[in-house]
Amino acid sequence: MKYSRQRELILETLRRSEVHPTAEEVYVAVKKHMPSISLGTVYRNLGLLVELGNVRKLETAGTTRVRYDGRNDEHCHLICSSCGNITDVDLGMFAAIDTRLHTEMGFTVSEHGIVLKGICAECSVKAIR
Ligand SMILES: [Zn+2]
Ligand SMILES: [Zn+2]
Repeated sequence: MKYSRQRELILETLRRSEVHPTAEEVYVAVKKHMPSISLGTVYRNLGLLVELGNVRKLETAGTTRVRYDGRNDEHCHLICSSCGNITDVDLGMFAAIDTRLHTEMGFTVSEHGIVLKGICAECSVKAIR
């Protein structure tokens, strides 16, 4: 495959990001380092990175905005239905559930495509105020 500095920069940006940015947010971040890059190029490279399995595409219900995840290890997501923020949850949190599923139902979990919806800590605090 042809070496692409643009694609590398987009991937780096996603790997470093702790939020799960939209294509537009990736574009704004990448543009700081590469002012000549266009939104179309960012979209094209994001699509390619998803195809290559380097990046995950997150379709969040309730919003039409697609977000991208630079973490390619398996993990689950918490989605705030108030602000739309997506938070990562490590699989260790589900270890007890996996064990129960195995002992009580004879089911061995091999993949966790879990999305939990709710209200994030920040929005909960705002609601109280
Ligand atoms: Zn929230
Ligand atoms: Zn994630």
